[in-house]
Amino acid sequence: VAKEQGGTFHFFTRLLMEQNIERSNLLNALHAALERDELDVHFQPKIDFAENKIIGVEALLRWRHPEWGMIAPDKFIPIAEETGMILKLGEWVLRKAAFQHKKWADLGFPINMAVNFSMRQIQHPRIVETIQSILQETGMNPASLEIELTEHTLIHSQHVSKLEELKKLGLKLSLDDFGTGYCSLRYLKDFPIDAIKIDRSFVENMTHEPHIAALNSTIIYLAQQLNYDVIAEGVETEEQVNLLMEGGCHLMQGYYFSRPVPSEQILHLLKNGIDQ
Ligand code: C2E
Ligand code: CA
Ligand code: CA
Ligand code: CA
Repeated sequence: VAKEQGGTFHFFTRLLMEQNIERSNLLNALHAALERDELDVHFQPKIDFAENKIIGVEALLRWRHPEWGMIAPDKFIPIAEETGMILKLGEWVLRKAAFQHKKWADLGFPINMAVNFSMRQIQHPRIVETIQSILQETGMNPASLEIELTEHTLIHSQHVSKLEELKKLGLKLSLDDFGTGYCSLRYLKDFPIDAIKIDRSFVENMTHEPHIAALNSTIIYLAQQLNYDVIAEGVETEEQVNLLMEGGCHLMQGYYFSRPVPSEQILHLLKNGIDQ
């Protein structure tokens, strides 16, 4: 189809980027992708810089279409969310991540496994049972599972009890992209959250905007006072690492340490350390 319409792969990619591609085409392709084994999960390490070690990984979905190439999650996740397909996808990612966790744990690396969840998944009436059965099926220790939610996922207060049910399974909840919504720390207190992830935009701007650095230190301090773990995401430079350490944040994630990579590369990092 790409060739008929415009000749090149780039043409098609551009179409996709501009979201001019028919949504139904993308959705059909996504359904097929699951069957055709085009989907994969990559993992990005979470680092404790004070201890110089990997404390966990975040599972991130990848889709390589045979003609269109890599399609970013930002392009297809929103459509999967709208259509409800995210339920199937989310379950697939969780199962994949849980099996992977179990493999690493059996090799002596019982690191935390974080998985992103959409609002649709949290709203689903059988979400607790689904997670429970995947944990049983894979033998994954629930204490090693962390579910990442965004502020948008949490806007409904009726979700508090749902989250409390999830917590009873023994897993952890973290709030992703912290600072990008209108959610305040006070509001946060209503939800049984264990950790916050400082959004990349703050980390990016802290080195050239002193007030952002001050804001970050304040968020870090307040969050720690309220007993949340705090991790900074999108850390790309040594300067950012140093500023975060000064601000009291030693948990970090970002290209400075590693991009999201296939599981074999994570095992290599676990065996040889992050400096290698
Ligand atoms: P997110 O959960 O905020 O994930 C972090 C994103 O930032 C990832 O993009 C990651 O590759 C990227 N990133 C990490 N470190 C750096 C850095 O130092 N610099 C820069 N520039 N980027 C960095 P990715 O993998 O493209 O995922 C985008 C979003 O798609 C995720 O944002 C998440 O909201 C969503 N997503 C990915 N996988 C899943 C999934 O399995 N389920 C759900 N519901 N959403 C997912
Ligand atoms: Ca995330
Ligand atoms: Ca994030
Ligand atoms: Ca994000």
